[in-house]
Amino acid sequence: MIEVQSLRKTFSHGGRQQVALDDVSLCIEEGGIFGIIGRSGAGKSTLIRCLNLLERPDSGSICLGGQELMTLSESALQARRQRIGMVFQHFNLLRSRTVAANVRFPLELAGTLSAQQMDARVAELLALVGLTAHSGKYPAQLSGGQKQRVGIARALANQPDLLLCDEATSALDPETTDSILALLADINRQLRLTIVLITHDMRVIRQLCDQVAVIDHGKVVEAGPVLDVFLQPQHSVTRSLLAETG
Ligand code: ATP
Ligand code: MG
Repeated sequence: MIEVQSLRKTFSHGGRQQVALDDVSLCIEEGGIFGIIGRSGAGKSTLIRCLNLLERPDSGSICLGGQELMTLSESALQARRQRIGMVFQHFNLLRSRTVAANVRFPLELAGTLSAQQMDARVAELLALVGLTAHSGKYPAQLSGGQKQRVGIARALANQPDLLLCDEATSALDPETTDSILALLADINRQLRLTIVLITHDMRVIRQLCDQVAVIDHGKVVEAGPVLDVFLQPQHSVTRSLLAETG
């Protein structure tokens, strides 16, 4: 279980404080797929970045499998972070490295496997995402969907128990989006991996998620099983998001 309690995060802009997250509390079930929706600027990316402390909240608590992240020492946090994968909208691949070398990179950073073990792990990950035949290519030689498969393989390298996806399909066409969603669903089932994803696409939530939270102006305005929230939206923001894009 991931328990987020009373999370608050402010950014200062030219002396003014701007509240990005305001008393956010959420329960995310282990092994599920949890969606986060909301308008641009609502605080979705800030929230997901707080889940691995890439962004440090001003206050509140984040409990991952019984471990409170906010009080971990820097070295314990580094170790914990290695087991939280992150997938980005624009892939964030290293251009000068091949597909295989991109996937190998987090293994090199972790430094726990021998060279031979790393090669074996990379081969396994490339097979999982269907890119074995492309291992020697560079990112520029790949389609968007293939780049995202590399991003996913890289995020899985250190056997995370949590995968955070920030608009992982927003740069992809609908058909490619479907194939990436199918891959994420497979990974969720096969690896029993908890997935938290942000999307603007209500179809992604319908197809993939068990639970959804709606964020507006830094607050969770509604959360629950996707069927409940989408069939009987309680908040005007949810209703308008569904009307615009649902
Ligand atoms: P989008 O859908 O456009 O990606 P979002 O819901 O992910 O939006 P966030 O990126 O979390 O929104 O931003 C929430 C608020 O916090 C915004 O008002 C934004 O300007 C502000 N913010 C986010 N990151 C920073 C930062 N590093 N410095 C200053 N302000 C920031
Ligand atoms: Mg964002």
